[in-house]
Amino acid sequence: MNKIKIPVEVSARHIHLSQKDLDKLFGKNYVLYKIKDLSQPGKFAAKEEVKIITPPSSPTFEKGGRISLHVLGPVRPESQIELSLTDAIRLEVDAPMVVSGNLKNVKSFIEVKGPKGKAKVKAIVAERHIHCSPEEARAAHIKNGQKVSMEVVSGRGLVFNNIIVRVDKNFKLSCHIDTDEANACGLGKVRGVGYLI
Ligand SMILES: [Zn+2]
Repeated sequence: MNKIKIPVEVSARHIHLSQKDLDKLFGKNYVLYKIKDLSQPGKFAAKEEVKIITPPSSPTFEKGGRISLHVLGPVRPESQIELSLTDAIRLEVDAPMVVSGNLKNVKSFIEVKGPKGKAKVKAIVAERHIHCSPEEARAAHIKNGQKVSMEVVSGRGLVFNNIIVRVDKNFKLSCHIDTDEANACGLGKVRGVGYLI
């Protein structure tokens, strides 16, 4: 049988905002300015950035350094910050590893600052996942909610287990890993390729 090939994309730390938080940070009825379409239809990178207000005990804060987050659009019902585990340790925030958007039981917050104000936003480490359309899922013999394994082919190639499959008619086949995972398999910021195993 032919191996199923999956494009792999690296998600750097970022923030999704609700209109309410967007208003708090950037001003009333603010509209995000799109700079780049992302691989998933309708999703885009915005020009806007916010700064994390780090805890006073953090070494990053001591040095006067601030971590910024790119805003990804469109606006969502609830705001969410996605960090790598390295970021979470550095920021001293106990961000749980959950599927993006599953915020019900999340109790970790980070305060961020925009040009017009501040907002407290839930922080998570997003579980690695594969996006696909129903047709792509059928062709790859995978189902929504299933956990699969994928081998990344690179100089430091490795096998990722427990990748959650997310099927939606608006999705396009792609595996999303974070910067820690990308560094572990030597992808850096580059896009890569994986094969289901
Ligand atoms: Zn994704």
